[in-house]
Amino acid sequence: MTHPFLDLAPLSAARFASIEDRVARLLATEQDVVVMQGEALLPLEGAIRATAGPGTTALNVITGPYGQTFGNWLRDCGATVYDLSVPYHTAVTAEQVREAFAEHPEIDFVSLVHAEAATGNTNPVAEIGEVVREQGALFYLDAVASVGAEPVLPDAWGVDLCVIGAQKAMGGPAGVSAVSVSERAWARMAANPRAPRRSYLSLLDWKERWIDGGRKALLHAPAQLEMLALEACVERIEAVGLEAVMARHRAAAAATRAGARALGGGLEPYVHQASEAAPVATTLRAPSGVSAADLVARALAAAPSAPLAVGGGALAKEMIRVNHYGPDATREAVEAGLTALGTALAATNGSSSVDVPAARAAAAAAWR
Ligand SMILES: *Cc1c(COP(=O)(O)O)cnc(C)c1O
Repeated sequence: MTHPFLDLAPLSAARFASIEDRVARLLATEQDVVVMQGEALLPLEGAIRATAGPGTTALNVITGPYGQTFGNWLRDCGATVYDLSVPYHTAVTAEQVREAFAEHPEIDFVSLVHAEAATGNTNPVAEIGEVVREQGALFYLDAVASVGAEPVLPDAWGVDLCVIGAQKAMGGPAGVSAVSVSERAWARMAANPRAPRRSYLSLLDWKERWIDGGRKALLHAPAQLEMLALEACVERIEAVGLEAVMARHRAAAAATRAGARALGGGLEPYVHQASEAAPVATTLRAPSGVSAADLVARALAAAPSAPLAVGGGALAKEMIRVNHYGPDATREAVEAGLTALGTALAATNGSSSVDVPAARAAAAAAWR
């Protein structure tokens, strides 16, 4: 008997190319799109190593943990790196980026995370892109957590390297990812003697051996299971409509913020301004004196399927994450999360001020 996951026909080059084209349409881009055979960290690292070197001066914007990782890779490549860090409860502004260029006009590379699932903020990429373009720097964007939840428009925004993954708002699997690459970015890579070549990290290999060859021959056997899943996931977004998928994420974020405020007990949105809060996931600040990790553990013990997680590293003390993305971008998932948190909070500090029905009602109202 054939097994649906195991007995797969090899994935043809034509099928592979058609999946790339679908991803390009999702991003409304005319740039080359390379679908990478690995989790999003593969193109994120590959794109930095391909374009940065000892001659690079990078502005690395840090609005969460990924920005820190990018800074480390850039330094490892020999680049001079200026970090621009903003507190996790806010977003970076185009003005701050402009000031960084004024201080260091030699900056020729900007790395930015669009939305941070890990900290719940989202950055104004269109406005920042204008500044980066004016200055002629190369613009690298991590849009893994934003694609599917809010518009991601590399061409309109002047993004040279735009990395996405399927595992967040696209509602797909981890294990395949993609990057759109501008002509400028290809040129920078070709001129970089340290860009990975004949390497799994290499984007140039895909350019020279796949794209320039008319996408006839694949470099190696593709991860066919993941490629089929990526195709199905983009197909589903097309069927429902990207705008509808994004609207669900926006509604989930608004409902979570409103519900958390109405819940009481000292729970608050972690990101102060709603306009700076990511549609993909909402972070909440635990009430003072309450450990976020303990609260989430208690909530999940009672409601294991609630879309809750705790902030990473030192944030585990104070940050709760409501991961209302992909299949969990629903009113039911948001209400389940709020109910589980409210019940756990009432049990934790015996608070009479926790009002779960009010939270559910506020979430339902905000959803509409
Ligand atoms: C989720 C995410 C990634 C991918 O990393 P994983 O933690 O391995 O899923 C990359 N960048 C951002 C901003 C993300 O939110």
